[in-house]
Amino acid sequence: MTQRYEHWIGGKPVPPARGRYLTSTRPVDGQEVAKIPAGDASDVATAVAAAAQAGPGWRARPPMERGRLLIALGAALRERAEEFIALESAETGKPDWQARLEVEGAAAYCEFYGGLVNIEQGHTLDAGPGTHAFTRREPYGVIGVITPWNSPLNQCVRSAAPALAMGNTVVVKPSEFTSAGSLTLARLVGEIGFPEGAFNVVTGTGEDAGAPLAGHPDVRRVSFTGSVRAGRLVGHIAADKIMPVTLELGGKAANIVFADADLDRAVEGSVLAFAYNTGQVCSAGTRLLVHESVHDRLVEQLVPRVREFGVRLGPLTTADQYEKVCRYFDIAKEDGATLATGGTGLGDNRVEPTVYTQVRGDMRIAREEIFGPVLSVLSFRSEDEAIRLANATDYGLSAGVWTRDISRALRVAERLEAGQVYVNAWRSSLIETPFGGYKQSGHGREKGLQALHEYTQLKSVIVTY
Ligand code: NAD
Repeated sequence: MTQRYEHWIGGKPVPPARGRYLTSTRPVDGQEVAKIPAGDASDVATAVAAAAQAGPGWRARPPMERGRLLIALGAALRERAEEFIALESAETGKPDWQARLEVEGAAAYCEFYGGLVNIEQGHTLDAGPGTHAFTRREPYGVIGVITPWNSPLNQCVRSAAPALAMGNTVVVKPSEFTSAGSLTLARLVGEIGFPEGAFNVVTGTGEDAGAPLAGHPDVRRVSFTGSVRAGRLVGHIAADKIMPVTLELGGKAANIVFADADLDRAVEGSVLAFAYNTGQVCSAGTRLLVHESVHDRLVEQLVPRVREFGVRLGPLTTADQYEKVCRYFDIAKEDGATLATGGTGLGDNRVEPTVYTQVRGDMRIAREEIFGPVLSVLSFRSEDEAIRLANATDYGLSAGVWTRDISRALRVAERLEAGQVYVNAWRSSLIETPFGGYKQSGHGREKGLQALHEYTQLKSVIVTY
């Protein structure tokens, strides 16, 4: 039976002011999963007020105490993993094995930032005799977190955990397609013993609830994860308020295979890179650039592995996304790309993982983010050409390099315009390493120690004696 949720504000469920609800559905058969509040600016205002009220008490807690609560939340997520896996699977269509990895990842964010909470508070600076100068890292206050539908729980915790660790309070606006996980998390946060109002969730569409959250005067920083289109709108709102914003946007990552690469490993890694989560990953390696001398061999090995991996994949999460991916099958045909495998919509939001060869850099499938399991294979003759092709995109989130030559790996990594570069394995899920975009993939960094900096502002104190 469908569960009806309310917003989670100030430690309790709160019905939407205008009494309207949206429905989330199972991607494969359209069966209703949850009713979630269709929130608006007045719900957002209530949540921000609750977060602002909780702020002073939360930031006054000793950092170790905040850290302990986060670590306890991580443990609770692991304990209740099955419940969260079921919710994530139902709303996103992810198979259980994938949902499990993401719930475990969410728990790991809590543990990582709970443990690091006290590691970086500021520095002592030498400003000459008679002066004692130091910096402090202070929370902003209320942080707005706006998340997409492809890994909803994981992305919510990715921002909320470091924000809470550093003494901020949080209002999350999850995707209207996948809000149940974040709402269930909010209840759990309360059970663990976080103060009421430290973590709030308001649901609704981007226009009705996301934009008012970004624009609210008491929200002092926003972390937005989603499309370039909506990121740009949030960026405008932030500019008007003179508010810092982290924008984690789309990608069109290049994955470069040199002639001396371990081809078996490169094939395995390239399949995961573009097809994991049915290609609905911002950092997906969707452009495979292969040295011409190994191109045919690699494609021959790749195609059967893609077909095998396809069996383990779920559907696309929304009907719009399904139609979009199917449109790209037509576009690829019109542009003259050669279909090596897939290229078909199977109905029920399912598509076959798809590989195109003979792709040129100017084709739309080589330039635009499709956000589905569609790989464009291009070939190159020289290192310079590979780098030129890799960087010929408006995006710059991730890139991969496969070679046994360590000098080449480092040289190429240095020249790639991307926020993360993977050498000889696609490692985009690492929590320890800062993650974020060059160019239109956004700015600011999540993950790593860097996220603790993002959710604090730096104050210098200069004492003269
Ligand atoms: P989307 O931009 O449509 O929606 C993302 C979130 O923004 C949702 O919560 C939505 O309700 C909200 N939103 C929409 N319009 C808004 C507005 N005007 N003001 C405020 N909020 C608004 O993106 P999506 O379709 O949910 O997700 C897919 C996109 O997200 C892809 O482009 C993908 O690459 C990107 N993404 C990026 C990362 C990353 O870390 N860089 C991770 C996952 C997904």
